[in-house]
Amino acid sequence: MRKYLIAGNWKMNMTTTEAKKFAKELLNSIKNVKDNVTVMIAPPFTALDGVGSLIKGSVIKLGAQNINENQDGAYTGEISADMLLDLGVEYVIIGHSERRHIYGETNELINKKVLFTLKKGLKPVLCVGELLAEREAEKTNDVIKEQLIKGLNGVTDEQMNSLVIAYEPVWAIGTGKVATPEQAEEVHLFIRNIIKELYNKNVSENIIIQYGGSVKADNIDGLMKKDNLDGALVGGASLKADSFSRIVNFS
Ligand code: PEP
Repeated sequence: MRKYLIAGNWKMNMTTTEAKKFAKELLNSIKNVKDNVTVMIAPPFTALDGVGSLIKGSVIKLGAQNINENQDGAYTGEISADMLLDLGVEYVIIGHSERRHIYGETNELINKKVLFTLKKGLKPVLCVGELLAEREAEKTNDVIKEQLIKGLNGVTDEQMNSLVIAYEPVWAIGTGKVATPEQAEEVHLFIRNIIKELYNKNVSENIIIQYGGSVKADNIDGLMKKDNLDGALVGGASLKADSFSRIVNFS
């Protein structure tokens, strides 16, 4: 039985001081979550230590927004898996559309990050999603399929138990234009079928597929009613305690 994963991607927001204050607010508003829901927040790297110490032992798990694909060494400005593990990080967001489209991350680089993250015992949240032009050209399925085949290259059946997929249509991220529950469900089912082709029925039935893209307190309930939507990756609405806790406690 799949659990829901509700995750907050704080992006490049909040100083450590602000993040710690906000984490305390979150802990007050998210005390109990349903048994079938896991909650994760991904603060900026600089706040991982402070926020991680505050949420340790609570219902909220710690995530990072990126990782380097190498063990260590001369990679100026990068953050390694061991550095994240040392801070209690459990999940790593990989291949977010902002990494793909602003920083030019390719499917090949994303695959290296996914493989290294898994090797180190961290859980990758592999983001996939089409641009508006690709959707309009009816290329959504082709784009998603390629991102999955290349991003998951070399990932074993067993490793798939630790991996999460986030479907994030790029046209819905930070735009206020949420995919309808029906649009999202169609792609989620497509993703699950690709996973069945690449792996097997068991892996495809167990994999968590989150939806991301303008998820808010007032649209989460409709999205989570769909059979193949197993949670949400939330940007803007994860930066306010009241909206994020309402999203976590979707009905
Ligand atoms: C995101 O950053 O992954 C995201 C979905 O952002 P927003 O919720 O703001 O659209």
